[in-house]
Amino acid sequence: MKKLLFVTAAILSTSALAAPAQTPDEQVRAIASEVSADRMHKTVEKLVGFGTRHTLSTQTDPRRGIGAAVRWAEAEMKSFGLETLHTCDTVTGRRVPTPTKVCNAVAIQRGTERPNDVVIIQGHIDSRVTDVMNSTADAPGANDDGSGTAAVIEAARVLSKRKFPGTIVYAALSGEEQGLLGGKILADYAKAQGWNVVTVLNNDIIGNSCSSDRLCDDKHVRVLSEGPRSQGQADLAAQTHSLGGENDAPSRNISRFLDSLADRLGIGLDVTQIWRTDRFGRGGDHIPFLELGYPAARLSVAVENYNWQHQDLRTEKGIKYGDLIENMDFAYLAKVTKLNVAALAWLASAPPPPEPTVEGAVSTDTTVTWNYVPGATHYWVKWRRTDSNQWSEKLPVTRVVSECSKNAAPACDAGGAGPYQATLPHIRVDDWVFGVSSVSKEGFESPVASAVPGGAFKPWVKPAEKSPSP
Ligand SMILES: [Zn+2]
Repeated sequence: MKKLLFVTAAILSTSALAAPAQTPDEQVRAIASEVSADRMHKTVEKLVGFGTRHTLSTQTDPRRGIGAAVRWAEAEMKSFGLETLHTCDTVTGRRVPTPTKVCNAVAIQRGTERPNDVVIIQGHIDSRVTDVMNSTADAPGANDDGSGTAAVIEAARVLSKRKFPGTIVYAALSGEEQGLLGGKILADYAKAQGWNVVTVLNNDIIGNSCSSDRLCDDKHVRVLSEGPRSQGQADLAAQTHSLGGENDAPSRNISRFLDSLADRLGIGLDVTQIWRTDRFGRGGDHIPFLELGYPAARLSVAVENYNWQHQDLRTEKGIKYGDLIENMDFAYLAKVTKLNVAALAWLASAPPPPEPTVEGAVSTDTTVTWNYVPGATHYWVKWRRTDSNQWSEKLPVTRVVSECSKNAAPACDAGGAGPYQATLPHIRVDDWVFGVSSVSKEGFESPVASAVPGGAFKPWVKPAEKSPSP
């Protein structure tokens, strides 16, 4: 039988959170301010200079093709002092007619305290023209996805100067246009390593601000996140139908986290949450992670220009087609990259989210329960209306108290034991969605994990598959 520890919920004084000279918001603002639009311009110029980065292009030419591009990206990240590796697989598929080696350039910045908790920033380095099988024509891929690759490299440059409790992985993926191949290779690698992947930020087309119909927007970035989680959904469907949670997969809480963070950064960039897995009928490299149960979201421009992606370079009836660097808005790209850098610094500083559960059917009160999270010194219980897109109510939970007089440490330490439990009087479970976030002693708060079926920031495991109790 589980022993429950009672916790007190008390309003924290602000001084309890503000021990460091800089608040967490100030710290990540300072880090993000180092992102340089000029440097990113140079990176995209370099990437375009490889002529084509098509996955089936030459791998041996020192100056042209995917091989040279991936080697360059890895060397660039290595030059920042990071540990780098190639994650590769030999692939045959619908868009890969003969066995082809597909390699990602990956850099790892190991966490100082919780190296197994991992946040990933990725973009795809491969490019294409109109015919997805054309591996020889010039395919500059400046925005799709030189922009995302430049964000990965710039994030690596800025963040590698610092140390974080959690691990940050930087990945320039190949094979996206040929079927999300590099994303699958990295997701499989993450699983093989046993990483606790807290978040994947997939950046794909993040560097233009105007479309062909002259609609322009350089003040928003779209964050796309899946609804019911794809991995485990067949098992979760009945529970979701009964208990809710259609808008509370961990990836959706990443989207809420980014929206809130962007508001606090004050860089003139707001998040438009798009509540679907990717653009209508389209895909990206976050999907292989979702399929393995890892939280992941896609960042993409507010307005796409379809004349400037997946096009042969040409002029037709006065319209210039092609993914050229001249079409990009580097000030905008820098803002989206700042949001990424701030998010990575924040998430690598925060503990991972807890795994809360909620009870309260046919009751005037609601009870939320969760286990201790390593690195957390306190927690927020949060709730919102079922039709609200953002957490609106919150209650801090600081310390295990009532057992302290009876039991020796570590039960008295907030890091000691659990489960933790908070009872919310006069709050009806029917009318709200509940979640819990963990907070480090410095005040870095994790994304909220919703107390719904499949809400935990971990791959879903069928209860029957867990090892039985002794
Ligand atoms: Zn793309």
